[in-house]
Amino acid sequence: MPYVAVDPSTGRELSRIPSTTLAEARLAAARAARVAPEWWATGFEERAGRLTALAAALRAQVEPLARRMALEMGKPLAEGRSEVEKCAWVCEYYAEHAERFLAPQSAETEAVRSGWVYRPLGVVLAVMPWNFPLWQFFRFAAPALMAGNGVLLKHASSVPGCAADIQSLLDEAGLPDGLASVLFLESSDVGDLIDDRHVHAVTLTGSVPAGRSVAERAGRALKKTVMELGGSDASVVLSDADLDFAAAESVRSRLINNGQSCIAAKRFVVVDELHDAFVERVLDELAQVVMGSPLDDETTLGPMAREELRDELHDQVRKSVKAGAKVRVGGEVPDRPGAWYPATLLTEVGPGMPAYEEELFGPVAAVIRARDDDDALRIANDTDFGLGGAIYTADLARGERLAADRLHAGACFVNGLVRSDPRLPFGGIGISGYGRELSPLGIREFVNAKTVWVG
Ligand code: NAP
Repeated sequence: MPYVAVDPSTGRELSRIPSTTLAEARLAAARAARVAPEWWATGFEERAGRLTALAAALRAQVEPLARRMALEMGKPLAEGRSEVEKCAWVCEYYAEHAERFLAPQSAETEAVRSGWVYRPLGVVLAVMPWNFPLWQFFRFAAPALMAGNGVLLKHASSVPGCAADIQSLLDEAGLPDGLASVLFLESSDVGDLIDDRHVHAVTLTGSVPAGRSVAERAGRALKKTVMELGGSDASVVLSDADLDFAAAESVRSRLINNGQSCIAAKRFVVVDELHDAFVERVLDELAQVVMGSPLDDETTLGPMAREELRDELHDQVRKSVKAGAKVRVGGEVPDRPGAWYPATLLTEVGPGMPAYEEELFGPVAAVIRARDDDDALRIANDTDFGLGGAIYTADLARGERLAADRLHAGACFVNGLVRSDPRLPFGGIGISGYGRELSPLGIREFVNAKTVWVG
């Protein structure tokens, strides 16, 4: 199957790229494995120079890159521009800090000298999703490259143009030939590539089923993995929360990237005494959403990425309604070609419903009523996912304690929507995955922390 880009606004095919064969992918892995040691040997300064050039290449192409994302997966232009800027930031962040994050460490023992150093693992295969087609790759690749690794990218098959753009950017930055390659590999060939001796580690950002499959295969081959999977983050509105702010921030979080963000607030958990007023404010916020072409600057909600994803979402909405949820706005598939779905609010959501139990990967917010603050935290944790979560409260000290100790997730924010930031670790617990990206922790995932003992 070739990689095919379809404009989700219209359903029309835009382009297709024939897939890379497994044999070609193996050759690319062997080449990267050959080049990577030379790349490591160049030193941090040279690598930082290439990463800085990569940041410049990204910034020079903001408009075409944002447009490509809008066309291939429906991201509104303004969000696409921010995504490109964030990719440049993460390249610069690791260019500046990698050497310090990977500095040799010493430990007092009976030896003359002992401690540990960080050395690259070799070649890391990255399997990436379509939702942040640039960011997901660069947040992994910037630290992996600065640590001295080679990189292979198997991108989502629905964003071939974005994948090709990434290869052009890597080439333009002057990375050594073959060090970082984009493969148009079919997902059914990923397992065999993982087994290849020139692939030393694997990272996947995507759905839970894809994560299970890739982690299982890599586990059998005993290769290190990082898994960044789905989420069903709660936005917990406590009894002393600033309602206007909590509603606005929760809606903003829910609708980022047309509702298709792993760390979007998907369940709004609200204490009973604030519930009705909160719902009214959310409805006010949703009334301001402008659904339209992702190429229009006024658009705040574009189409979903693909029609089958929209159909899955609508099915989850229908099943939730059948089980007792109420549609307060939206909830109908518009009668037009493309993968459109309106901003939707479900209330009276409870256990057993898809809107409570599953990830809703689109512009649908689910409000769940809690008896009190304690009950709200219980509900927030009543999920197998554990990516992020937000707490809204006027008491910052209490909020911080609850975020640190009571909310179970990889990232807990107080009075702010969950977001990724190069300076802070990012990753999940439970079925949201394991391992961390970004920050000093992210760059230490794909390295050998090697003990050196001198007697
Ligand atoms: P997906 O269907 O799992 O696809 C992700 C990538 O995995 C694609 O490149 C896909 O290739 C590949 N893939 C799928 N099944 C595979 C298999 N069995 N073996 C090997 N590769 C496989 O996910 P998606 O629909 O693109 O993305 C949405 C999901 O990603 C959501 O659940 C979202 O929450 C999650 N996500 C998580 C994070 C995070 O940081 N935790 C960030 C963004 C998104 P093909 O395209 O060729 O199928």
